[in-house]
Amino acid sequence: MSISEVLIMYECFNCLSRSVIWDCDFSFEDYGYDGEGIIHECHCENCGARIMYFIPIDDEDDQTEK
Ligand SMILES: [Zn+2]
Repeated sequence: MSISEVLIMYECFNCLSRSVIWDCDFSFEDYGYDGEGIIHECHCENCGARIMYFIPIDDEDDQTEK
């Protein structure tokens, strides 16, 4: 997978235009949130919306799911 594939635009939740590009990643710590996790920041070039994905990382060894 190349870098350019990471930056592929996808559909904006707000304006439904295929203009969303990835900006950068932060950790939960950068934002002062508790726990482990990653925050993906993106924005829409069409409507200017900012999109943030909060992805918690469950650090506990609790793999007891079926
Ligand atoms: Zn948009």
